[in-house]
Formats: sequence, C-alpha cells, structure tokens
Amino acid sequence: MTNPLLDFSGLPRFANIRIEHITPAMEQLLANGRTTIEQVRSDDVAPTWQNFVQSMENVNECLSRAWGQVSHLNAVMNSPELREVYNANLPLVTQYFAELAQDQVLFEKFKQLRNSPEFESLSHARKKIIENELRDFRLGGAELPPERKERFLRIQEELSALSARFSDNLLDATNSFALLVDDADEVSGIPDDVLQTARETAERDGVPGWKFTLHAPSYQPVMQYADSRALREKIYCAYSTRASEIGTPAPPSDNVADWDNTPLISKILALRQEEARLLGFDCYAEVSLATKMATTPKQVLDFLGELAVKAKPYAEHDLQELRQFAADKLKLENLESWDLTYASEKLRLERYAFSDQEVKQYFPETKVLPGMFKLVEHLYGITIVPAEGSAGIQLWHPDVKFFNLSDAEGKLIGQFYIDLYARPSKRGGAWMDDAISRRRIEVEGSNEHRVQIPVAHLTCNFAAPVNLNGQIRPALFTHDEVITLFHEFGHGLHHLLTQVEDLGVSGINGVEWDAVELPSQFMENFCWEWEVLADMTQHVDNGMPLPQELFDKMLAAKNFQSGLQTLRQIEFSLFDMHLHFAFDPDSEKTVLQLLDEIRKQVAVIFPPEFNRFPNSFSHIFAGGYAAGYYSYKWAEVLSADAYSLFEENSTGGVVNTGTGARFRDEILAVGGSRPALESFIAFRGREPKIDALLRHNGMAGA
Ligand SMILES: [Zn+2]
Repeated sequence: MTNPLLDFSGLPRFANIRIEHITPAMEQLLANGRTTIEQVRSDDVAPTWQNFVQSMENVNECLSRAWGQVSHLNAVMNSPELREVYNANLPLVTQYFAELAQDQVLFEKFKQLRNSPEFESLSHARKKIIENELRDFRLGGAELPPERKERFLRIQEELSALSARFSDNLLDATNSFALLVDDADEVSGIPDDVLQTARETAERDGVPGWKFTLHAPSYQPVMQYADSRALREKIYCAYSTRASEIGTPAPPSDNVADWDNTPLISKILALRQEEARLLGFDCYAEVSLATKMATTPKQVLDFLGELAVKAKPYAEHDLQELRQFAADKLKLENLESWDLTYASEKLRLERYAFSDQEVKQYFPETKVLPGMFKLVEHLYGITIVPAEGSAGIQLWHPDVKFFNLSDAEGKLIGQFYIDLYARPSKRGGAWMDDAISRRRIEVEGSNEHRVQIPVAHLTCNFAAPVNLNGQIRPALFTHDEVITLFHEFGHGLHHLLTQVEDLGVSGINGVEWDAVELPSQFMENFCWEWEVLADMTQHVDNGMPLPQELFDKMLAAKNFQSGLQTLRQIEFSLFDMHLHFAFDPDSEKTVLQLLDEIRKQVAVIFPPEFNRFPNSFSHIFAGGYAAGYYSYKWAEVLSADAYSLFEENSTGGVVNTGTGARFRDEILAVGGSRPALESFIAFRGREPKIDALLRHNGMAGA
C-alpha cells in the first residue's frame, strides 16, 4: 500500500500524504465507486440492506474519508500546489455525488427496499436512513415526469447561477466604494490599527490621508468609533445601498443597474416558488422545512411572533436608554441609524469598564483545555488523555494535539485532533469536522462485527503561545474564544459520543439542520458558570483565579442590548419566512414593502427609507438559509431550554452527572437516528419552551 489516501485501516496518515497522491487516489476511489454503483444498479436480485445500502455505503465512505483528508489539509495547511490539485478534483467529487442523487434506478431500489418485508425488521436507524434517502430523492425531483423534471433541473441551474450573481454583485459593489479622508479631525476616535490600514490603502493609490472601505474591518470600526457624525453618515449610506438601484455607481460603466440585485431577488423568489409547486408544495418555505425540525411555516411564524412580543418591551427599554444617554452625554439629539452603533459602544464602555485584554490574562490554554475536559469528563463519565506520541498517530503540524476518549470502563470510544492556533496556511474561523464516523462493520463471511471508532477534528484560529526572552508564555484566550472552543467541542462530542452504528445517521450525520447547533450552543452555557470558570482560570503572571467582581461585570455586559439584538434577528427571520411563504413575487407589493410591514409589527428601530437591506441579504439569496434564517433563534431556544434542566437540578452544582448522563444518552448518543424533537422530549420531558432563553438573555418576567 503506497498511497496513504487509500489506506483505511486506521487513522489518517497525514505525515505520509503528498500532493502527488491526491489525484491518483481520487481517480481510483471514484472508479471503484462507479463500478460498485453500476453493479448495484444492474443487480437482478431484490435490494436488501446488505447488498444495496451497505455496498454503496462502503465505497462512498472510502471516497468521503479520503476526500475529507484532502479537504482538511487544504483548509489547515494550504499551499498554491495543494489548492490547485484540490480545485481540480473538487468538481469530480461533486459531480459523482450529484449523479447519485439524480439516479432514477437507485431511487426505485430504495422504494423497493422500503416496501419489502425486510424493512420492518430493520433498526430505527436503518429505517431512518432509507426514509431520508427517499425524501431527498423526492426533493431532488426524482418523482417528476420527464418534461417537468427537465424544467426542475433547469430551475436548479438557474437558481445557482442567480445566487452566484447575487454575491458577485454584492462583492463588486462593496469593492467599488472607497472614501478618502484627508482631514485628521474627521478620523478622530477610530482605533490606530484601523487608521494604519486606511493610511496604507491610501498610500497604495499614491494619495495622502486615509482611505476607508465597506469591508467589515474598515466599516465596523468607523460605525463603532468614528466621532465624526458626517463620516459615519457617508459610510452608512454607501453600505446600506450596496447592490441596489440607488447604490454607488459601478465604474467603468457608471451604471448602478449593473450591480443591482433587485431584479435578481424577484427572479430567485419566483423560481423558488415554481420549484415548490413542481414538487407539490404550496410554497418554498414548505420545501425548506421538509428537512428541518420545524414542521410548518405557521409554526415558525408563531414561534417568532411569541419571541417578538416578549422581547419588544426590553428592546424599547434598550432604545430609550440609548436615546437618553446619547442626548445627555454625546449631544446627539435625534439618534440616526449611523449613530446607533457609535452611541451603543460609548454606553457599553461607560457601564462595563473592563477590556477583553484584561480578561484574557486569566484564560491561559494550560488551564482552559484541562478545565473543559474535566467538565465533560464529570458530566458524561468519560476520560480524555493526550496521546499524540502513540504509535500510528500522525499530525500535519507540530502544534496539533491528539486525544483519546474512553468510557467509564476504560474502553476507547473516540479520538480527536485539536489544532488551535492561527497560521498563514490556515483558513479563518473555527469548526468541527468528522474524520471517521462511528459504524458497525460486519466482518465478511462470519457473524462477527467490529465497531469503527469515531474521530473528530477541532480547528480554531487563536493566538499561539509566545516566546518572551526564552520563556514560553502559554496561549491566552479571550472569553469569546473560550466560548468558541466550548461550542466546537460541543459539536465534537455530538460526533464522538454517538452510539449509532450506521453511517448515515451516526454522530451529526442526518441531524436536522435547525437542531444541529443544539449540542454546541448548549456547551457555551458553561462558560457563564462561576463554578466552572473559577476552576479553569489562572492569571498568566500572578497565578490568581478570575476575580468574582470581574466575572460579575462580564455577566452584566453579556446581556447588553439583548432586547434590540433579539428583535433584529426576529425581523430578519420573519422577513425571510414571509418572503418564502405567502409573498407573491409577481404581485404589486415589493419586497421592501413587505419588510416595512414586518418592521411596523415587530421593530422599534426604523432605518431610513433609502436603506436597501434585502439587496445584501446573502444568507437567504446567495447562501443556504432560505426560509431557514429562523434556525439561529430556534437552536438557541433548544440549547437554552436543554441547559435549564441542569439549572433546575443544580443542588450540588450545575455540573450534574445524572442530568449529564441523560443529555448524553438522549441527545448526543442518538444523533440523527430519530427526529430531533423526539430526542429533545426524551431528554427534557416536554416540548421546547422559550422561557429559558429569555431568562438567559435577561428578558425574564415580561
Ligand atoms: Zn456551530
């Protein structure tokens, strides 16, 4: 075995993989896959779990695992050479899975298996996998007669082209704007590092002064810190009209229409509606919800409506307070849209005088990581030990750490890599990814089987330890970074603590999209518990734990303006849901009018009339969030409500092993093998309620 990407006997062989291994491995795995699929398709015998699903799973798992290693390296050890090979192979892999999803013969075989006597004898997990396959085939148009199917596929193509165009327009419009300022008074308040970049940007054009753009690292600090109201107004106007008919003209044509997303929005909505009707649904929102935990658009609208009613008084209070403060302290009488962020930042500073830098000194990696492990060891009755030196473990970078996870009996049940620090070759952000999924593998020719142990990747982009005069100072994390780490570890435990034995629904596989953030956001709650934090903090210089007084300030700052923020998310979610529900893109009513109506119902802040927010709402027009934006709040409700059971059972501390075991068994262990709502009820004893989230956000008692 010379090609490490074709070795599936154990952990990935990261140290042996060379760029020249990639294309030959993928060619072979794709060919193997096609051969097996062809055999399965032309097989005359009736499909069984074994000869049909299992056969395909085996080849597809190899393909996914090998490609997963390539994608992982591309994300964490990027180089021009690797990127080129990755990009060359990506369309081939995408194409392979797209063909499977459209294969009519496979669809028929799945239906046969569903109607066979064997189906009833299968486990819940296997039944769920078959039902999911049938559902996805149907949503992919497999049941349509030929001429409608043709139209369906055309719509899909058109939609993906329109989405790409939408984000291109937005990016081009964002890039087209720059504001040159050469008066030092105009830039007062803006942080030095932002000014430095603005200075360098101007210098590159050979002009004096500071050049500001609409990209987040320039736009946000200007809105947040610039003392000049006129500067904030100019930047706000340009930002909020991007990719619209009144946006900044697009050179060289000087024609704003070139980048105007307005006609695209209508086309996208009309095509989605047509797609939904072809599939037999009333509206696109129903298509979107077919794969989610929420069942009907009405259920989502009611959920958002209930939250809005509860949050509104708090938002009104937040706004009133901000107005008062702005008038008294900032001499801003009429608070305009371009004043909100600025005034909020000033108010936040006045109220909660502590800095991220101060907090950071108490969170060295050497305390945080063991503290987090100790928490979950206690909660779930597991043990985590470092194992990077052990035989067979290969890492892609010296900074990577590797751990074994064992159950109460000391049996190995999972393994994970942690790659914490930012480096130039690494994609930004933080994420969890599966390297190997848990599944039961039948040993051929016998009744024996073995269980494949799940393996996860946790990747973050934190600052690395520094060498101070020959002494290594551990990496220090901000509290936000600690939360991020807990969040990703929550996804990781969902993957690692699964008890499911079939690939399609093991770990996070097959979990509904709007429920997948439950285990991750759930973990974040522990970062706000004194009993947890007290044990995992130590000042990097004086060794003292986090002072309670500082913790109390952090806690108070946590819910700053939570009413306003909640209402904003609800406004976006309602707009998204209504657009894909009862809104008719061919009617007289415009998208902006709809947004206006929604604001009148729920909002307390009303942007100026020229604001063209829909034209830059990429989540729903260029991303995967159409009729799904509510998921952010939905998952927050689930995780807060799940966590509240720990709060209820907290005699002797919130880290309660009995409740922990129940969370592990009813939520983490079952993965996608049953509907998320069933799992939630099994854990909580009832359906989800919004109360815990409101309380956690300081909005209780409304
Ligand atoms: Zn997440």
